[in-house]
Amino acid sequence: MSSTTTARPALRFLSADTTTGIVAYAVASRHDASRTNIISLDTTNGATYCDCKAGECHKSCWHEAAAVEAWAAELATIGVVWLTDVQLVRSGRKAAALIATYERRIGRSLASDRIALLAARSEYRRRLRLGLIERDALPVAA
Ligand SMILES: [Zn+2]
Repeated sequence: MSSTTTARPALRFLSADTTTGIVAYAVASRHDASRTNIISLDTTNGATYCDCKAGECHKSCWHEAAAVEAWAAELATIGVVWLTDVQLVRSGRKAAALIATYERRIGRSLASDRIALLAARSEYRRRLRLGLIERDALPVAA
């Protein structure tokens, strides 16, 4: 890596898959103008994968850390961390219902609804990990 400091390009949101729980971001390669690196973050366990040169060699890269930060920013933007447990479950169910409705009516769902669902699920899992809620205390978000 160069010792010169240059601004890192911003990650661009690509997708949120509610089946796998994986969100994906893209970022232009600074080393190859013809290349776009794809970074995946598994919201169920925090695992990251990047297809950049470092990622292909199973080395960590700044893209993966940036994806974790971007996802955290998405969560903060949505504001799920401020919801009560009941509101959180309702939010997840509402997003799941919207996704199902859009998929039934037009064959696809909105990225904002998929993000909202994954955010609710991610926050729910975070609260479970921290012991803030008990698994069976609330109905699981759809
Ligand atoms: Zn990378």
